[in-house]
Amino acid sequence: MNGLVPIPATLPIIARFYPRADWVWVGTQLFALAIPLVFLLSGLSPRLCAFCERVAGGRKYWVITIFACLYLSLAALVTLPVGYFADILFRRAWHGPTPTTAQWLVGQGVALLRECILAAALLWVPYTFVRRTPKTWWLWSTAVLVPLLAVALGVYQLILTPLWTPYRSPDPVLASRFEALAARCGATHVPIYLFSGPGETVVGVGPFRRILVTDDPNLSQDEQVVLFAHELKHYLLDDTWKPIVMLAALLFAGLWVVHIIGGAAIRVFRRRLGFSDLADPASFPLAVFILSLSWFLIGLPVFNAVSRHIEFEADRFALELTHLNRAEGLAQVYFDKYQLNEYYSFYRIWRADHPSGSARVRLANTYHPWTAGKPSVYGKLCRMP
Ligand SMILES: [Zn+2]
Repeated sequence: MNGLVPIPATLPIIARFYPRADWVWVGTQLFALAIPLVFLLSGLSPRLCAFCERVAGGRKYWVITIFACLYLSLAALVTLPVGYFADILFRRAWHGPTPTTAQWLVGQGVALLRECILAAALLWVPYTFVRRTPKTWWLWSTAVLVPLLAVALGVYQLILTPLWTPYRSPDPVLASRFEALAARCGATHVPIYLFSGPGETVVGVGPFRRILVTDDPNLSQDEQVVLFAHELKHYLLDDTWKPIVMLAALLFAGLWVVHIIGGAAIRVFRRRLGFSDLADPASFPLAVFILSLSWFLIGLPVFNAVSRHIEFEADRFALELTHLNRAEGLAQVYFDKYQLNEYYSFYRIWRADHPSGSARVRLANTYHPWTAGKPSVYGKLCRMP
């Protein structure tokens, strides 16, 4: 412990930047929501779908795949100027770090390619079920999509990402400190890798998970150890099967909402929309609109609240396991130097998936039940010092 870490204040320029960045973020979200609406209300969706049917010769898989890829490409193209303003021009005006225009464009292209690959791999599932079992398609689709998405995520994290992210093993001294902590929690042979850049994390789920720790040279060894202990909590408790359960719950709820609201919208506005069934591939923009709106209004605030709780508990676990309170506080001050250190309501609800820097430093400064002989919250999980 020894020595309290001063609670970090938000730099004045950062405090002025964030509320404006919120407006830009809301504008970008609303613009993204408007695109499927325009497709639906202008009659563009059934016309584009008819074109895809001619191109695909009526073969159902290809109709939905070509339609989805064309829709996603057009949406990406229309969004390009808005995204450029939000990601590049706005940030540059505030002297924030930005990629070059070429790097940004490549990133947009890769994101579109990823969306099209996912659409080609997965969209046939709900469209097959909605044709064959129109009342319970959302249930069967979730059951088939969850394992497919879990495999896709695992392949992306464990096989593809290492191709462009150099990972290496920690040096022996650091590795032995990491392994000693893990062993106190009964975990042996934990795969631990170092990488350059911010954002320690656990990737993969179940038996395929591994811990990634940053090798930032500005961090002391104690700081790296306490950051590793934070990830160890995710490794032991959060990334076993919880992400799969969460994915299933999100898909289940999202597809059910599409079933209820999409079905009702088609019944009321079928003439305007130009299609009369959710099974028609022209309904894809309607599903995108309903999923995006429900995520924005309900899903994201709930996800952020759950995530902040999980992260706060990982900090608590790290402190209990290491007693390195000062190192924890200093690491948070270092990482949050250019962040908002005290949240206001809008930011907390919609944009923050981690506790604020000041909340984390406050925890590091004040959380030490062991000094008063009180039990640890995670005392049953690991042998605490
Ligand atoms: Zn975490």
